[in-house]
Amino acid sequence: MSSTDIDQPVLVAGAGPTGMTAALALHARGIPTAILEADSEDRDRAGSRAIYVHGSTLKTLERNYPGLGKDLVDEGLVWPTRRTVWRGKDVFERTYDNPGGSGEFPHFTSLPQVTTEKYMHEALDDLGIDIHWDAGVESVESTPDGVHVETADGREWETPYLIGADGGGSAVRKEIGSEFEGDQSENSFIIVDVETLDGNTIEEEPIPFERLFHYDAPEAGGRNVMLVPFSGGWRLDIQCLGDDDPEEIASDEQMREFVREIMGEEYVDNIQWTSTYKFLQVIADSFVDEHRRVLLAGEAAHLLAPFGARGMNSCVADADEAASAVAVAARARQDAVARNEVELYAARRERAAEYNVDAAGQALDYLQGDTPVTVLRKEVAASLADHFESAGEYLDDAPYGPHDAPPIAATGNY
Ligand SMILES: Cc1cc2nc3c(=O)[nH]c(=O)nc-3n(C[C@H](O)[C@H](O)[C@H](O)COP(=O)(O)OP(=O)(O)OC[C@H]3O[C@@H](n4cnc5c(N)ncnc54)[C@H](O)[C@@H]3O)c2cc1C
Repeated sequence: MSSTDIDQPVLVAGAGPTGMTAALALHARGIPTAILEADSEDRDRAGSRAIYVHGSTLKTLERNYPGLGKDLVDEGLVWPTRRTVWRGKDVFERTYDNPGGSGEFPHFTSLPQVTTEKYMHEALDDLGIDIHWDAGVESVESTPDGVHVETADGREWETPYLIGADGGGSAVRKEIGSEFEGDQSENSFIIVDVETLDGNTIEEEPIPFERLFHYDAPEAGGRNVMLVPFSGGWRLDIQCLGDDDPEEIASDEQMREFVREIMGEEYVDNIQWTSTYKFLQVIADSFVDEHRRVLLAGEAAHLLAPFGARGMNSCVADADEAASAVAVAARARQDAVARNEVELYAARRERAAEYNVDAAGQALDYLQGDTPVTVLRKEVAASLADHFESAGEYLDDAPYGPHDAPPIAATGNY
């Protein structure tokens, strides 16, 4: 028989989007829960980070806390136009009359991650779910019956299940002996957030309300540039060239120059945040511990390049599925059923992570690709774009990799 006591809260390590979603999803399934968070309550989470929230993520959040998905839609924006430029010349542009589609939720919405997290915090507050701040997980000891956790504030905790949602540097992952495997992007990328002018809405801005990708942009010294609107600002991504010194490129002076050239002089003083990345493409070698009592979710389990926006979106899917597995496992009459649920979680989300890393990797290979075949394919598409829309559309689409969701079966039966 299973010995789980479901009156004891299931603990979640980390109050990022994964941990907060996991806690909401556990509560929605009738499982008491609390979050252990390393940071202090007055922390400042910098940068826009995950600005692109897929429709499926909105639906997942809405299902777990009615109103949350709709709040994000109200706060976010849906850009109507995709445009691609090749070395200063337009090669593709498409404007949609109804860019969000006609479903209950739009295909996506665009807002800063800090706003998404604010709404998640409000939902947790409303439900009375505790976040224990300054309580970073330091040690995790699992047994067939549950998990013993020690936190940085000197407290000790017993929990039937632990969801490790403590981000890329996850202490929970290290404690269960799971390791990241994979590699890192060759090029560096600079990500800059630029505030709208004078509190403008995006529609009031002097630059067009569109998602722009510019290959080899002359105003960025021949680097690839992406400019994406989100509520309250613009996200500028600049792809460093192979011999660039990323620190030099990301210096204040150089960034002001890029923003002046790409967006206009009036935006130069509106730079809010600049960051330099080499993206990791890694997956934990196991998403669960040996006793099937600890589940890794979100960036504790996988890191991927942001092209295609699979990062936070796949974190939310992990969190939702981890909560489902724990809810079933915690009520199971047989230990074998409980273990099986947790293993099924691992199998499904490991498969999803592999698919997502592969998809983000295709986008990364395309962007960094300097093999003769890749270069030639882009050049040919650019030269044909005036005559064949499909050539321009290829250039517009390819930087984001495949669009499909991971092909995961709904049951583990075949
Ligand atoms: C530049 C950039 C752009 C991005 N763009 C997108 C995008 O457009 N779309 C998208 O979907 N995703 C995007 N992402 C990815 C997205 O930001 C992350 O996937 C997301 O934040 C991961 O959420 P998480 O909760 O797993 O981890 P985190 O957000 O890292 O949260 C982990 C939490 O755990 C806490 N913690 C750490 N250690 C401990 C411990 N020992 N014990 C307890 N708590 C701990 C941390 O303080 C933090 O609160 C982007 C990321 C970056 C960097």
